[in-house]
Amino acid sequence: MKIPVVYSEDFYTDYDTVDCESPDRISSIYFKIVDIAEIIEPDLCTIEDLKLCHSDELIDSVKKKDELYYVAKKSAGGAIKAAQIALERPSFALIRPPGHHAGYNFNGGFCFFNNMAIAIKKLLKEGKINSALIVDIDLHYGNGTYDIVKNDERIRFKNIDAYPRGNFMRDLRDALEEAADFDIVGCSAGFDTYIKDWGALLTTEDFKTIGYLFASSNPNLFSILEGGYYIPDLGLNVRAFLEGIMEACS
Ligand SMILES: [Zn+2]
Repeated sequence: MKIPVVYSEDFYTDYDTVDCESPDRISSIYFKIVDIAEIIEPDLCTIEDLKLCHSDELIDSVKKKDELYYVAKKSAGGAIKAAQIALERPSFALIRPPGHHAGYNFNGGFCFFNNMAIAIKKLLKEGKINSALIVDIDLHYGNGTYDIVKNDERIRFKNIDAYPRGNFMRDLRDALEEAADFDIVGCSAGFDTYIKDWGALLTTEDFKTIGYLFASSNPNLFSILEGGYYIPDLGLNVRAFLEGIMEACS
């Protein structure tokens, strides 16, 4: 069994951003997971998709940078594709730029458009789902996602940020307790909680457990890459996460 991974060589584009959010993030993951991945190329998202979550003003500000605008639309398109696949089976979007710090009328933290919120809002609009649970496991609070979904009763947003490690895993289990009640679960998968990354919290084995917990609580699961900056082990951690998902579904 292979896991659907939405990926494009466009994510190697060296658009204008901070040094740590580099194209190497994508290659370091790709080569560690390619043997267990069924690679799927995403489409660009449309302006209408962007408008589901963002103001014209914010969209126009990204549009001024051609290269970035293109990749950011591809990244959001990747999240959409992963969400569509998740209606059948769990998927992962290996995408950049990340999205969870992009709100309705602001962006920052290496994020430009909110990939997760765009994917969920699109499926809701198309009537493919009626409810969604978003769980953000990145080290940083998904302030952009919260900003966009906070008044939408169809979407529940949970952010896991507990310390130490035992509390993190406990809070995650709690967050997933009612996951089966939702039509889809979206995981904002940041790997910057890793023990050698900025968060200094979780092990590679923990990411496997996390993947297992997500997929066993609701197989209509899509996960999208957010943070994760410790390049030497980033691919291993994503692989562990995917193996956890696959184990839950086997
Ligand atoms: Zn982060």
